[in-house]
Amino acid sequence: MQTNFTLAQLADPHIAEAEKILRACVHCGFCTATCPTYVLDGNELDSPRGRIYLIKDMLEHDRPASAETALHIDRCLSCLACMTTCPSGVHYMHLVDHARGHVERTYRRPPVERFMRALLSWLLPHPRRFALALLAAIPAKPFAPLAGALGLERLAAMLRLAPWRGPHRTLGPNVYPAVGPRKGRVGLLVGCANDVLAPQINASTIAVLTRHGIEVVLAPGAGCCGSLVHHMGRETEALDRARANIEAWSAIDGLDAIVINASGCGTTVKDYGARWPDRKLGQGHQRISDDAAARAEARRCGPHRRLSLGLLAAARPAGDPAT
Ligand code: SF4
Ligand code: SF4
Repeated sequence: MQTNFTLAQLADPHIAEAEKILRACVHCGFCTATCPTYVLDGNELDSPRGRIYLIKDMLEHDRPASAETALHIDRCLSCLACMTTCPSGVHYMHLVDHARGHVERTYRRPPVERFMRALLSWLLPHPRRFALALLAAIPAKPFAPLAGALGLERLAAMLRLAPWRGPHRTLGPNVYPAVGPRKGRVGLLVGCANDVLAPQINASTIAVLTRHGIEVVLAPGAGCCGSLVHHMGRETEALDRARANIEAWSAIDGLDAIVINASGCGTTVKDYGARWPDRKLGQGHQRISDDAAARAEARRCGPHRRLSLGLLAAARPAGDPAT
């Protein structure tokens, strides 16, 4: 795809990366077949190709996001199904991430939307707050129709979806010893909403790993991977989450891998290094990525490595093919 950025625009590394991605797109449209939002409503602007055009137009003219552009970018699920069918290798993920940041900085949303987004970014990444919110939602559930009648459709939808029972977290200590001889030691990212909505997933992961001789550590200070706020375009908050996780894992000795059992968190963590190449992620980033011996050990431990979706390589330098 031909682009028309000025040299001054291209001096910004983020714009330069976006331009490179845009140029890779040959507008063939193969991606539309696997895009759930396009399959659902048939609107070209809700397809990857349509969004790419909207983003190109917005960035090339360095203009604030319009309501229409914000709407169609908001509707993108960041499921990345389009990347699996693109023959040109368009890195849609980095492009839409950049666009979301631009929308967040330049588009003033209606007050209700601003309130909902602020509420979600304050609640969801924090398990205790989210658990309390779910408890509070139980008596509020019958008022879902009232919220709908008042125009708070999204709040009404959340109340309808809220469970009737309170969350039951199962995690206790920070270290779960291996059953039998220890074959490895991993850090488990317990995440945020995942651990409140379905704590049995983390409990099962720990059970499987420890039975395979893997000691599981829940690093104090590690939490949300940052994707919830990152996908709202709140880059500073997302960067804070990345830094906190890297420093928490770096403070634990002898980790062979970081295990992540939620695919979205794995995608985000593995992208930490590439996403913010010009930002300092903290001392921990350097310490992990330089630890060649630990990386080699993670590669050697076949059985438990297959269980890990997010690896120690999460914090490796961009372009390191070793893992
Ligand atoms: S499949 Fe790839 S190259 Fe083709 S339109 Fe979609 S993003 Fe562009
Ligand atoms: S990330 Fe998913 S929803 Fe967004 S454009 Fe690609 S396929 Fe469609």
